[in-house]
Amino acid sequence: MRQVALRNGTRVPALGLGTWKMGEDVRQRAQEVRALATGIDLGATLIDTAEMYADGRSEELVAAAIKGRREGVYLVSKVLPQNASRAGTVKACEASLKRLKTDCIDLYLLHWRGSVPFAETLAGFDDLMQAGKIRGFGVSNLDLKEMKEWSGLSRGDKTLANQVQYSIESRGIDFDLLPWCRERAIAVMAYCPLAQGGIPRNAALVRVAERHRATPAQIMLAWVLRHEHVIAIPKSAKPERVRENVQAADIMLSTEDLAELGKAFPPPRKAQPLAMS
Ligand code: NDP
Repeated sequence: MRQVALRNGTRVPALGLGTWKMGEDVRQRAQEVRALATGIDLGATLIDTAEMYADGRSEELVAAAIKGRREGVYLVSKVLPQNASRAGTVKACEASLKRLKTDCIDLYLLHWRGSVPFAETLAGFDDLMQAGKIRGFGVSNLDLKEMKEWSGLSRGDKTLANQVQYSIESRGIDFDLLPWCRERAIAVMAYCPLAQGGIPRNAALVRVAERHRATPAQIMLAWVLRHEHVIAIPKSAKPERVRENVQAADIMLSTEDLAELGKAFPPPRKAQPLAMS
């Protein structure tokens, strides 16, 4: 599995596992745990979750999937904006740690901007770093203007990643946010890289997939991963699809592939509001 180097020196897999909507239905639980365990077996050892997902039950599911192999996994979780005061951030993290059955989260993100001042959340992240309860922190759903504001605050320059929506169909960040993050070695974690399962029926996508003996979904993932500082976190509750998704990390798109895809899915010509799910 190709790795992405974070600015604190940690290397993480370029393709990780999303968990939104996992843990909502107990009847799916065994299969969801199997899907995550399959991903870990195949080298997709980064798992993305959040206190929000299934009201904490996604984190509990992750705990079951990583049982006995915590050391080999890079855990990402998120604090809800309404909990992101200095003390609230610490409290929310401690609750996540309990559900995740671990004593440290590798990367802890502010899920999106709320009404709490950024400086408060950063102070909470700092408290958690000092206490050894998180190994790094970052943000999610911040647009370029918000990123500049966040990064300019005390400790903001330690931000490891911004997790944002990014797919071949939703590529607004190509205009400004993506290059801005690259210049500062801030990783971009691409969420909804498969357009939430709505794989576009597009002739160019199919042609490129055929050239690589791959599926259109795999080409969508390879397209997101064409940048060195981008991490994709597709979600699948099906072990066989997790296998398909992980294999996509090995596909290298040629200049010709990228040109063909760029015609079918043109890059933005001006700044666009950040897409959010
Ligand atoms: P994705 O783009 O990852 O798509 C997930 C959907 O695609 C599921 O319905 C899944 O179905 C289907 N799917 C998975 N693999 C394939 C495949 N190979 N072929 C066809 N369909 C496939 O959307 P998500 O919204 O889940 O985003 C990924 C992750 O990003 C989330 O799970 C979450 O961890 C994170 N996220 C973060 C957000 C934020 O605000 N920070 C917002 C949204 C997501 P099935 O499970 O049945 O295989």
